[in-house]
Amino acid sequence: MNASDAIKNSKRVVIKIGSALLTNETREELNQGWINALAKDIQALVQDDKEIIIVSSGAVALGRKALGISADIPPEDIRLEQKQAASAVGQPHIFTGYYHAFEALGITVAQVLLTMGETESRRMHLNARETLNTLIDKNIIPVINENDTISTGELRFGDNDRLAVRVAQMIEADTVLLLSSTEGLHTADPNKNPDAEHIPLVEDITDEHIKMAGDALPGLSTGGMKSKIKAAQAATRAGISLIIARELEGKCTLFKAQENAPNARKRWIATHMKPKGSVTIDDGALKALKDGKSLLPIGVKEIEGNFERGDAVSIQTEDGKEIALGLSAYSSKDTAMIMGQKKEWVHTLQGYLGRDELIHRNDLVMF
Ligand code: GLU
Repeated sequence: MNASDAIKNSKRVVIKIGSALLTNETREELNQGWINALAKDIQALVQDDKEIIIVSSGAVALGRKALGISADIPPEDIRLEQKQAASAVGQPHIFTGYYHAFEALGITVAQVLLTMGETESRRMHLNARETLNTLIDKNIIPVINENDTISTGELRFGDNDRLAVRVAQMIEADTVLLLSSTEGLHTADPNKNPDAEHIPLVEDITDEHIKMAGDALPGLSTGGMKSKIKAAQAATRAGISLIIARELEGKCTLFKAQENAPNARKRWIATHMKPKGSVTIDDGALKALKDGKSLLPIGVKEIEGNFERGDAVSIQTEDGKEIALGLSAYSSKDTAMIMGQKKEWVHTLQGYLGRDELIHRNDLVMF
């Protein structure tokens, strides 16, 4: 099974591209030929009705030269502000590379810079997700990288493996594909051990697999197999499959999503969210929620507490039973204004075009 077979049954796929693949032999310049070929492969996936989101590294690698940092210096020996500055130089290069490759195929791309924190803070999470979904709905391919210049973390290589999984959770992707210089997990490091065997499928990640992955290798791009296994653990636990490969048509390791994992996003809401307030709903709305629908302003009878857009609110029935938790698309102030109102009135009262739903079904966990 190659990587493209492994994503056959997926609809939404996050493809993370490592620095080593994006640079040429000098490790300092963009490998435009490689990006063009990748864009063609992605075009085929899009024609096959898949939604593709790219997470791309390479900004630091492509910016090093301008900062006078030789390609031989390992990333761990470069000071943080130097890496951040290099990234600022390199990021437009990478994006331009994707832009040209996809433009030639008639596909629009969009640059999205996220920070890890953003995928955690509720409001930013909600906004980033809405933006990504809006792009995807319009068949635009987001090209995401970490916003390195403002990142407060250590800017470690391998971070984008985690970022790809976070993004996948955020937008409910089925699969993450990590494209890098390795064809997947081996029983030992294949660069050192000629007897190392390739492992095509991992149903359950065990300590043994983690041991096989070894330590992160220093070098241009590789966060090492260890960072990839960690990403695979996070993904599969959240119900997302993860594939490691060098190219779409090549060998790969597929880490299968845990089947009983609750929907990633809902689990995130259930475990991370503390309600800032509550809304009491009528019987019609209760029935709608039980049928798996969203909560509309018209079904709300009372509200309590102070909350902002993106905050969690508890949903209660008229007899005071807490039945669900969800992320509100409106602040408590706005909710007070639009509750009990028909859809047509909501936007008029708001004075801006917001969502029809107060709490979208994807943002809602029933108890
Ligand atoms: N954001 C970094 C860059 O674009 C890469 C982080 C990583 O490779 O995981 O250079």
